[in-house]
Amino acid sequence: MNLSELTLDREGLAAAIACEDAAFDAALREKAYRVKVDTVGPEVYLRGLIEISNNCVKNCLYCGIRRDIRCPRYELSEEEVLAAAHVAAQRRFGSVVIQGGERTDAAFIRKITRLLKAIKAIDTGDDPPLGVTLSLGEQPREVYEEWFDAGAHRYLLRIESSNPDLYRKIHPSDHSYDRRLRALYDLKEIGYQTGTGAMIGMPFQTAEDMADDLLFYKSFDAPMIGMGPYNPHPETPLTLTGAPFPSAERRFALGLKMIALLRLLVPDINIAAATALEVLDPRGREKGILSGANVIMPNITPEEQMVKYNLYDRKTLMRDSAITERIVVGYGRWGDSKHFRKKNFY
Ligand code: SF4
Repeated sequence: MNLSELTLDREGLAAAIACEDAAFDAALREKAYRVKVDTVGPEVYLRGLIEISNNCVKNCLYCGIRRDIRCPRYELSEEEVLAAAHVAAQRRFGSVVIQGGERTDAAFIRKITRLLKAIKAIDTGDDPPLGVTLSLGEQPREVYEEWFDAGAHRYLLRIESSNPDLYRKIHPSDHSYDRRLRALYDLKEIGYQTGTGAMIGMPFQTAEDMADDLLFYKSFDAPMIGMGPYNPHPETPLTLTGAPFPSAERRFALGLKMIALLRLLVPDINIAAATALEVLDPRGREKGILSGANVIMPNITPEEQMVKYNLYDRKTLMRDSAITERIVVGYGRWGDSKHFRKKNFY
């Protein structure tokens, strides 16, 4: 396939995704990187990632911390979360992400509210207060509102697949695609910058499914996307089905290609270079940036707990200092997506 033949409709995107020509992929990534620099600038924004807990009430069939898997569980104390947020402030990351398994109990909800208020009060010198993204799963609308009022301004809730049939295949029967969509719309209506994303290269997934994921991001008008290659965890039901999925090399190539295609499809959004890329290539996130991504989430979870947040096999423990030396970093800024700023007039 030649880059000049690429069209950004469903058929064209699926053809590009199915194409296994390395020269095409390289030209596509180069073009997407240029579009990124021209549209949102060369800077990469950092979000210090704090993995607050690997306890989860859900049981997603692909997840290494699903409810029914036997693994060491942990929950960071408020002091530990705040210490990590102070590290983010000192290193002038501009923002933090609080991510964890889904929990809807009152104690957890109130803890997040208190933490949000405390994080927003951290002295950041001449920089704005730390921006906070939450990634804590599906919650009742009033909980999203409480957290928004306490200072969270972005929320990441991945759809995992925009195809309802595929969604059903990778989740137990008590998980609901419609509920996930409702939660996404709740977040958006409340005023969050609402990010989503999907796995790339998982069992049962076609090139058309991936093309539809890209078109879903566009139609949902998501200002930020965090998507990454599927990395199988050996003890999950999805892996144990034995259903085939692309090789690691192919999944990595697909991960970069999806970033590049999305940058061409919606040039002014924030796109994360996911940790899942780094699992497949030691310079995975840097290559994600060179394919059109503009956000990286250095992990600032205390190390002894980080190893337990084992969503998939061979999770990287890279501490991110090396990568920030090789890219242009927008220190001390929230790095909100240009797409969102344009729509909200700031
Ligand atoms: S993917 Fe998220 S919601 Fe699903 S089991 Fe894992 S941590 Fe829980």
